Parts: sequence; structure tokens; C-alpha cells
Amino acid sequence: MNQTRYIFVTGGVVSGLGKGIISASVGKLLQARGYKVTIQKLDPYLNIDPGTLNPYEHGECYVTIDGAETDLDLGHYERFLNHETTQANNITTGRIYRNVIEKERRGDFLGKTVQIIPHITDEIKRNIKLVGNKGYDFVITEIGGTVGDIESLPFIEAIRQLKWELEGSCLFIHLTLVPYLAASQELKTKPTQHSVKQLQEAGVQPDILVLRTEHNLSPELRKKVGQFCNVGLDSVVQSIDQPTIYQVPLAMAEQNLDETILKKFGIQPGEKPEMKPWRSFLDKLYNPKHQVNIALVGKYVELPDAYKSIIEAFIHAGATHECKVKLNLVHSEELTSANAADMLAGCSGVLVAPGFGQRGIEGKFVAIQYARENNIPFLGICLGMQCAVIEFARNVLGYKNANSTEMNETTPYPVIDIMADQKNISEMGGTMRLGGYPCSVKKGTLAHKVYGADNIIERHRHRYEFNNKFMADFEKAGMEATGFNPDTGLVEIVEIPSHRWFVGVQFHPEYRSTVVQPHPLFEAFVKASLQYKEENK
Ligand code: GLN
Repeated sequence: MNQTRYIFVTGGVVSGLGKGIISASVGKLLQARGYKVTIQKLDPYLNIDPGTLNPYEHGECYVTIDGAETDLDLGHYERFLNHETTQANNITTGRIYRNVIEKERRGDFLGKTVQIIPHITDEIKRNIKLVGNKGYDFVITEIGGTVGDIESLPFIEAIRQLKWELEGSCLFIHLTLVPYLAASQELKTKPTQHSVKQLQEAGVQPDILVLRTEHNLSPELRKKVGQFCNVGLDSVVQSIDQPTIYQVPLAMAEQNLDETILKKFGIQPGEKPEMKPWRSFLDKLYNPKHQVNIALVGKYVELPDAYKSIIEAFIHAGATHECKVKLNLVHSEELTSANAADMLAGCSGVLVAPGFGQRGIEGKFVAIQYARENNIPFLGICLGMQCAVIEFARNVLGYKNANSTEMNETTPYPVIDIMADQKNISEMGGTMRLGGYPCSVKKGTLAHKVYGADNIIERHRHRYEFNNKFMADFEKAGMEATGFNPDTGLVEIVEIPSHRWFVGVQFHPEYRSTVVQPHPLFEAFVKASLQYKEENK
């Protein structure tokens, strides 16, 4: 296909209907038919990127290979499509305005008044087409927020214009809610009608409606919605709650959503793809032969979205071993040496999560000490790895008050210290060590066995690092650095060889795990946890 087609996904009625999953599912179905697909998210907030946002606001900050700090939906796009995204796949209102204002300061507008229309909308369109120009057959663009929000208006106006500029190459999918009123046992279509009307007022007629529902929608109801919203019956699709997000592409395929899309673009759909690897993953997910409990220790556990990629990586890795991984979310602020045995009881593996700052840090040391001393498989990610180093310094090396200079600038043992190139940084946004960096893995180590490779590339998001001044002390006492940045010597992986499975990684393996390519570290960690369980029955 030499022409790029654009599919826009908007949402109505309420937020949180799963536009990201619908976008990823449509992308998956088109990809399964052999098309080159990418997915982009436009976020209507004013932050330049979500990197400065507290996880309580929007959940996890996902990091792409090129070091962009992005919305967590990009994680879904990568996990579904097994295809890397970049900065261009996540644009915020803040970024759009910054670009326009920078152009204005440069004098690029030649004395013109700079306005939302056409300047902001032009910049939005430029950013959408920029992705399409990279040779994709389909660009799916998810518009964050809900139709009717003041802040989404420029995005809606931009895609309205694009439909006319790229005649025949644009399609609009609108996702809404059909609520069920239990008292009267009725499904209600009015919110959908209103939301479509709102979209129409902005000049956009949806081509396809996806109705999120908790109950099956009858053909009569779908016909009624279609008639009120000017959409044919075959273009009204239901999205009923599924046992897993990974079932959604198949649920959409059953209703021929991908065929409808292709036909609307005037493309012959051809054979229905079998999607064998996807189905085999689901088969293993639904029919686990084993189960294992793993503790996920962090300070945001009341909001699991903060650990989205980790949770999904466990689902992928669990399926490999036909194992249901039951995550026990442990609040690190509640964990003490007095209650550790109780709170971690029944866990065959302990993962200490990434994070920032002092809150909940002592509980992380407790979890690590418990896993280390009881020979329970342990995986520490980013701050989790740094905490493993600090715990080892305090409890094995006897370095009293050892710490990271992030938590205590005047610690006598700064075993984790700020990276040299981070010292003079005052701006917080986008200034961490971000994205993919190479790591050389030492032969004969657990990490080397897990990866089966001498050189790997993993994604990062941090300012602090292992302090190499202490390396000899650690190695003598039994904690070894087994992965390094080949250019700078920065420690990327630590292990305790005498322990059955103890690994800390400065990078974030979870960002690279996908349905068809689970991450080897998570796979190995789940396997080690299963073995631990078998041996400790
Ligand atoms: N706060 C730590 C650092 O900046 C770890 C960051 C993380 O876990 N992503 O180095």
C-alpha cells in the first residue's frame, strides 16, 4: 500500500473506557493482515510530557527506546503490536503550544497574529502526518480525554480538517458507554447519542461506533444507536468487558471490525488472519497448569496503573510457563522487619519496584533483606536494584547508614550516587538518563544465562547509579556487578551468585515485554519462583 491511511479514535461519555486498548486491538488486527501499523496518542494536557507527573495522576510513565517519557497507553501499543514507538507517538497540548510559541519567537509567522486556528491545529496536523510519513499503511491516532472537554477541541478540529485534506484516507472511530441501570434492568443509549451529537457539533461524523458495555447489546439496540447516530448496523460494534485486555482484538475480529474498516477505505479485506501466536498465548493464559505468588513491593500499590508494564510483563512471562502469576501488591510503607514474614508469607518471589524519593524506602530494604536471607528469588528494578545495593551495604558489609545520595546527601557510605552528568541539572523535565543504552553482560553469570547474549540494549529512567568506588568491597562480600555500560562503566546489573536467584537491574526490562516476545528476565524470574515454590512445599 503506498498511501497512508489515518484512523482516529475518540472517546465519549466518560473517561477510562479503554480507547488505548481499542486502538491497540484495531492495530493488532490490521497488522495481522500484513499491514504496517503504528499508533499515536495525543494528550490534551499542558505538560510537555508525563515525565514530571506523579504516578497518582496518570499511572506509570512509559519510556520509549529513544528516551521519550510517555503515556502508559504507548506500553499497550508496544505490547500488542510488538513494534517500538518513539517520541513522535505521544504528543501533548503542551508540546504543540511550545512548538508554536518557539516558531513565533523565531519570527516564523512573519508578523501574523498567532491563533488556535490555524496555527495550533496546523501543528497538530503536522505531528499526525509526521508519523504517517514514515512509511506506515495505517496510523491510528488516539485522542486522549473525552469529547466535549474544552481542551480536546483543537485536536477534534484538526482531525476534522485532515479528513478534507486527505480525502478518502481518514476514518473516525468513536468509543462510548452504554450504561446498564440495574434497578430497571435497562441498557441506556442516550449518553452515546449525546456524545455523538457533541462530536457532530464539532464537525466530525463518526464512521464506526464502539459501544463499551457490561451486557450483550441486541441487534435492535445497535440498530437504534446506528440510526440515531447516522452509522450503519455493521459499523456499530460492542466492546463487552473481557477477562483480559488481550481478548479484545479477538472480540473485535468476531464482529468484523477490521473488515469493516478496510471496506470503508475501499480495500478488499481478503482472508481472515488466524492469529495463531496470539491465540496460543491466550490459550496458555486461560489454562495455567501452575500458580505462583510473587510480591510486588512499592509505594504506589493502591494504584496498580503505576506499575502497569511490570504487571503486564508478569502476564506475558507467566503464560510462557503456563503459570498464573498472582501478584501480591505490598505497600512498602507498611512493611517492617516485625511483619515481613507475615506480609510476604506464601510468596515465592519478591520484586522491588522502581521509584523516587524517601517515602516507603525502609520497607523496600526489609523486603530485600527477607528475600536475600531466605533465599527467595528476587528481582530489583531501577530503585529496586539501588535498594538491593544499599541493603547489602548496610546488612552484609556493615556500612551503617549507607544510602543513596538521593535519600541522604551526607551519608557516610554513598553506595548509590548521582551520575556525574546529572550534577548540574536544574530542570526536572526530560533530563534523566532516558531510553535505550547498551549493556555488556559478563559471561558465566546468571544474567548472561538469562539473556543468552553478550550485549543487550535496555531502557532507562534514572539520575543515580552504583558508586564504583565501592565495587571491590561488594565483590569481596558476594555481590557482583555482571552488566556494565561498555562506554562509561556504569553498573547495569548486580547479582548475588551464592543466592538461588538474586538480580538487580538499573534499567527497566518491563518496557520491552510484549505478548509475542515476553522479556527473558521476567521469564527466568517466574521460572525461578516456580522452582522455589516446588522445593518449599
Ligand atoms: N530514583 C532513582 C534514580 O533516579 C531510581 C529511578 C527509578 O526507579 N526509575 O536513580
